[in-house]
Amino acid sequence: MRRCSHPGCSWQAIAPSDDAALEQYAEHLVNAHAKTVEADIPDGMVQIKLREDDEWITTTFEEARDLHDSFHDH
Ligand SMILES: [Zn+2]
Repeated sequence: MRRCSHPGCSWQAIAPSDDAALEQYAEHLVNAHAKTVEADIPDGMVQIKLREDDEWITTTFEEARDLHDSFHDH
């Protein structure tokens, strides 16, 4: 079960697979935290991290999805 790593956030993925859970998590990060947590990023950009110990990546939402997809091609 994938949970959100942000302090105080109780979100967790409800998904049939880890791939689906990670996709939900990426969308959750964008929707719930991208603008409030990372206030200094440019308009239209989001920050994601694919694993909790990764550095934040500043990118577009579309690229964030592509990064997520390629992450799972490994
Ligand atoms: Zn969260």
